[in-house]
Amino acid sequence: MRYWDEHMECMERGTLQEIQLKRLVETVKRVYTSVPYYRKKMQELGLIPEDIKDLSDLQKLPFTTKQDLRDNYPYGLFAVPLSEIVRIHASSGTTGKPTVVGYTKHDIGIWSEVMARTLVAAGADKHSFVQIAYGYGLFTGGLGVHYGAERIGASVIPISSGNTKRQIQLMVDFGTTVLACTPSYALYLAETMEEMGIDKSQLKLKSGVFGAEPWSENMRKEIESKLNIKAYDIYGLSEVIGPGVAFECEYQCGMHINEDHFLPEIINPETGEVLSEGEYGELVFTTITKEGLPLIRYRTRDITALHYDRCKCGRTLVRMEKVIGRTDDMIIIKGVNVFPSQIESVLLEMGEVEPHYQLIVDRVNNLDVLEVLVEVSERMFSDEVRKLEQLEKKITKAIEDTLGISVKVRLVEPKTIERSEGKAKRVIDKRKI
Ligand SMILES: [Zn+2]
Repeated sequence: MRYWDEHMECMERGTLQEIQLKRLVETVKRVYTSVPYYRKKMQELGLIPEDIKDLSDLQKLPFTTKQDLRDNYPYGLFAVPLSEIVRIHASSGTTGKPTVVGYTKHDIGIWSEVMARTLVAAGADKHSFVQIAYGYGLFTGGLGVHYGAERIGASVIPISSGNTKRQIQLMVDFGTTVLACTPSYALYLAETMEEMGIDKSQLKLKSGVFGAEPWSENMRKEIESKLNIKAYDIYGLSEVIGPGVAFECEYQCGMHINEDHFLPEIINPETGEVLSEGEYGELVFTTITKEGLPLIRYRTRDITALHYDRCKCGRTLVRMEKVIGRTDDMIIIKGVNVFPSQIESVLLEMGEVEPHYQLIVDRVNNLDVLEVLVEVSERMFSDEVRKLEQLEKKITKAIEDTLGISVKVRLVEPKTIERSEGKAKRVIDKRKI
């Protein structure tokens, strides 16, 4: 078995819970004392830190949202003097101010540890060559993976995102064994590799850690076959620490959450009520070891479910399912909740089209209309019109069966849907304009 920290990753739950409670109590005391925002919120609820005596008391605490971070821009929620902050990252806001996060030296240490666990679980060790094609900079993806890879002693190739042809050339020349990037970029790399006439047998790649956007099991198969690797899902968000919040083991039956650092809950996004094991809802995290920016019950907007049964790998850390969507990506069409990932699954299952698609939502005569643009492969596109029409019908039926609403499918020429070197833009909602 491959573990980075067997003691923590395989700890008996009772012992883990004792550690979690101790750390939670300390965190609540710290934010109450050092962050006026939290003190005020707790006072409004009639709470003092001494009220937190048990893990179930977590539910008494107030939620924190992305808006709260924006309202306290840039440093209002930091819990240490700014002289203790050694790093600042920010996530780009499409609207308004970015979300700013700060790390102490201790926090960077935690980040390295949780990313080391992530990479080791994906088969990396000190002999690995880890090509980091996540963006470096204010985005946490690049540096997060970087710290973990250095911690395990691997050889880091800090190439950052973009410059796709050069990525591929260096992947061949440097003998990259582990690739880290977004799943949609991994597919784009595979596609560009084909165009360049480079065969996957020329690569030494063994595995990849892919995250920062939701992806389906079918997309996993696609990446695995095109790059001849084992593809691992990783989960993280800058507010909580960056990548390294949760990771897959070799059994790939959900992502183990590093819950000795990040305490998860699943809530009903409408009511805030805590849901039981296995129920789908919004994932919420309380960080229990972070110094710079501790967050209490931070609402991630990601929809998933938790499973506490023991994993075959021996880790006792709770597993979260792949994120099936986001509360804010979730599009409501004719009253039905639709996630782009559902459509992606359907397309990849059919195999006759490329996994490049875009959803266009509009309102015509007060009725919601969903149009799905799907790219066909070069081979299909050269086929006769009748065959394309049949394919269009087949896709329409498959999507309608899955979503339970009517859709309009439009096949488009190969490579006409915009490619992304970061997160893919899947939805254009014209109703909001
Ligand atoms: Zn496992």
